[in-house]
Amino acid sequence: MPVTKEFTVLGLRMWQQVVICLVLGVITGFALKEQAAPLKILGTIFIDLIKMVVVPLIFLALASGITSMGDSANFRRVGLKGIAAYLSTALFAVVIGLVAGNLFHPGLGLHVNINEFAGNAGVANDAPPMKIQDFLLNLISPNIFKSFAEGNLLQVIVFAVMFGMTVNSMGGRSARVREMIHDFALVIFRMIEYIVRLAPLAVFGYMAWTVGTQGVEVLRVLAVLVVAVISSCIVQYVLYGIMIAVFGRLNPFPFYRKLVTTQVMAFSTSSSKATLTTAMREMETKLGVSGQISQFMLPLGAAVNMSGTAIYLAICALFFAQFFGVTLTPEDYGVLLLTCTLGSIGAAGIPSGSIIFMGMVLHSVGLPIEGIGLLLGVDRILDMVRTTINITGDCAITLIIDATEKTHNKEQYNS
Ligand code: ASP
Repeated sequence: MPVTKEFTVLGLRMWQQVVICLVLGVITGFALKEQAAPLKILGTIFIDLIKMVVVPLIFLALASGITSMGDSANFRRVGLKGIAAYLSTALFAVVIGLVAGNLFHPGLGLHVNINEFAGNAGVANDAPPMKIQDFLLNLISPNIFKSFAEGNLLQVIVFAVMFGMTVNSMGGRSARVREMIHDFALVIFRMIEYIVRLAPLAVFGYMAWTVGTQGVEVLRVLAVLVVAVISSCIVQYVLYGIMIAVFGRLNPFPFYRKLVTTQVMAFSTSSSKATLTTAMREMETKLGVSGQISQFMLPLGAAVNMSGTAIYLAICALFFAQFFGVTLTPEDYGVLLLTCTLGSIGAAGIPSGSIIFMGMVLHSVGLPIEGIGLLLGVDRILDMVRTTINITGDCAITLIIDATEKTHNKEQYNS
């Protein structure tokens, strides 16, 4: 993706603007408390702008990534590697979550009136639990225009991959279509660059709102759950560094150092989708990842790879089992491994995107879904952490694949 010169304000670079706004947002939230709530609109405007372009972006980035990979052996290799890496890290993340759930016992000794919380559940309670069959059927779109209009990313991805592969299979006959996809992709990337300039304002608005309305009070109630999720996310975070060293044969420190802007973005917006463009930009301009790989792997990752979410779903399942005094059998653990992985793949990369899948997870092991309301108080804060891990995972795997494909610019990475 060609990137225009970095946008600066008063000589401050993007990441500096984002960090300053993050701190200002926290201070404002503390100072204004509930009155900071209206500042959320700054974040909402930004997310709406991102939503406006995210579906065409995912389609065009994937289609142009696949068609520029040229011969399909290349594409098949990268695709298989990518999907295998995303799947195995998700499974591993679920295991980390299940272990942490058993170590921390977050659901024990909590005396909360479940009905009271369920009454506040809103979205969660209204959302029907997703069944596994529904999930699989949902991959194929019976009407692709509807999928575009509704922003059903999994269906758009399946369509984009089939579309790109068909263009490739037609060779010279489809040259004009290929060129058009690339040109459209360039326009949409440029549009996103303009939108991303507003990111610091969004970060400010979201932080002020979150700190102002959630405070630390809620945190105390579910402190153990929070600690369990955060500790597991740290384990996963370190694991990515180890994977970069082992599989990518790279020093992981430049990765951690250069990913700060992207992570701050993920942390403050709680949305993989909203962070995708920043991630693409940073990976290509600072971490030396080739456009081809980043344009294929990152949109795919933002939509299907959510290891932080997988951890969260697994810990919460155990949290509720402990909370309701239900003993889980080994089969239940097997089911959880599957449903938490599927949930992390299916969850939309938006704030609280995984909540609807929590229904599927709990339902699959016979736990009542009413308790989801209990989580909503802390969901935003945990969402920040898990989204950061989700995005870190996308970037780490993209980097590893780029390194193993020998398309990675090591000099730029280490600079
Ligand atoms: N907010 C998460 C993301 O965008 C999804 C979730 O776990 O709710 O990555």
